[in-house]
Amino acid sequence: AEPTYDVIVIGAGAAGLMCGLTAGQRNKRVLVLDHAKQAGKKILISGGGRCNFTNMHTSPEQFLSQNPHFCKSALSRYTQWDFLAMVEKHQIAWHEKTLGQLFCDDSAKDIVAMLMHECKAAGTRVQLRTEILSVRYTAQYHVDTSEGMYIADKLVVACGGLSMPKLGATPLGYQLAKQFNHTIVPVRAGLVPFTLHDHDKASFAELTGVATDVVAEANHVQFKEAMLFTHRGLSGPAMLQISSFWEPGDNINVNLLPNERIGERLRSMRAEQPKLSLANALSRWLPKRLVQVLIERGQWPNKNLADLSNQAIDTIDRDIHGWVIKPNGTEGYRTAEVTLGGVNVDEVSSKTMESLKQPGLYFIGEVLDVTGWLGGYNFQWAWSSGWVAGQSV
Ligand code: FAD
Repeated sequence: AEPTYDVIVIGAGAAGLMCGLTAGQRNKRVLVLDHAKQAGKKILISGGGRCNFTNMHTSPEQFLSQNPHFCKSALSRYTQWDFLAMVEKHQIAWHEKTLGQLFCDDSAKDIVAMLMHECKAAGTRVQLRTEILSVRYTAQYHVDTSEGMYIADKLVVACGGLSMPKLGATPLGYQLAKQFNHTIVPVRAGLVPFTLHDHDKASFAELTGVATDVVAEANHVQFKEAMLFTHRGLSGPAMLQISSFWEPGDNINVNLLPNERIGERLRSMRAEQPKLSLANALSRWLPKRLVQVLIERGQWPNKNLADLSNQAIDTIDRDIHGWVIKPNGTEGYRTAEVTLGGVNVDEVSSKTMESLKQPGLYFIGEVLDVTGWLGGYNFQWAWSSGWVAGQSV
C-alpha cells in the first residue's frame, strides 16, 4: 500500500521545515517533500551567507498584503523572540547588524542544520530530490511524485514564490492554489534592484560600486538606508526596499543628503571659503565621483562658491534633496529576494493558514500574499506562518 501520513508538506524551505518540525512535535506523522538536492537553499545564501533570520522590531507594519491585518495573528503567536529562543537553544551565536536585523555570527548553515535537527528529533521525514507530478483530493490528498505516491489527510503548500528560479523556485504553489479554486493576487518581483534607461545608465556607469546614505521614496513610502550604484542601475537596501512599492512608470525621489541642509551649508561656505570649488565643497558630504557626475548631469556651474548666485545654490539644494529618477524597470525574478502578491489571504484562515475553500489544505510562507520589508521580516513570516500551520494540521 502507498505510504500514508497525517501531513504532507510541499517545500523544504523556511516555512515548510518550520511547519514540519512543529507538527512532528505534536506527534503527527509528517513528510516534507522537495525537488531540490538540499533543504533550505534560500536560507543558505541569505544575508550574504549569514542569514538575517529575523528582526527584533518585527510587527505587522513591515508587511505588504492586500489585507494588512492577515499577518497579525501568526506574528503574535510565534514571534521573533520565539525563533530567537530556538536559535539560542541550539547555541548558534548571533548579532544585531543594524536596524534590529539579527544574523548568525558564523554561517546560515547553522539555521538549516537547526531546522533539520528539530525535524529529525520530532520524527518528521524530509525527502529531497522528489518531483511533484500531481495532487488529487478524494477524502485524502494523493501526491503523485517521481518517487511514488504519498497519501495524507492534510496538505501544506510551502513552495515559496518565483524569485531566483536558479535556486529552484517554481510556480507550483500558485498552480495548486488555482487547482483548489483559490484566487491569486497578481505577482511581481520585490526587494529587487532597479535598472535604468540607457542615457542614465551611461552617465552613472562610472559610479559602479559607489554607495551613499539616502532617503528614498516611491509611492509616498520612504526608507532611510544606503543606495548603491551598479553597472545595471541602482541597488542597495534603500532601493530594494522601495522597489516593493514602486510601479512601472513611477519616478523615485532620492534625498541624497538627508542629514544636511546643503543650501545653507553652501551659503555659509561661500562666505568663509569663496575660492573653494563647488565640486570640492560638495565632496565634503557626498562621494567625490558622485559629485562629479551630478555636476555634469545637473549642469550646475562648475565654479568657485564665490561665483554662485543664491538662485544657483537654491537649484543645487533642490536637486540634491530631491533627486528624481525614473527607472526603466527592475532586474526581475532573476535577482529579486521576494515575490509580491500570491495566494489571496482573504481565502485563508489567519489563525491556522488553512484554506477557507478546501478542507485540510494549508498555505504558508512566501506563496501567500504577504511580503515583508528587507531586514529579516520575510523569514519571520515563514517561521510564524509555518508554526501556526504546524499547530493546526
Ligand atoms: P522557500 O524558502 O523559497 O522554500 C520553498 C521550497 O519549495 C524550496 O526548497 C524549493 O526547492 C521548493 N519547491 C519549489 N517548487 C517546488 C516544486 N515544484 N516541487 C518541489 N519543491 C518545490 N529573507 C529574510 O528574512 N532575510 C534574509 O536575509 C533574506 N535573504 C535573502 C537572500 C536571497 C538571495 C533571496 C532570494 C531571498 C532572501 N530572503 C531573505 C527571502 C527569504 O529567503 C524568503 O522569503 C523565504 O525563504 C520564504 O520561505 P518559504 O519557505 O516560503 O520559501
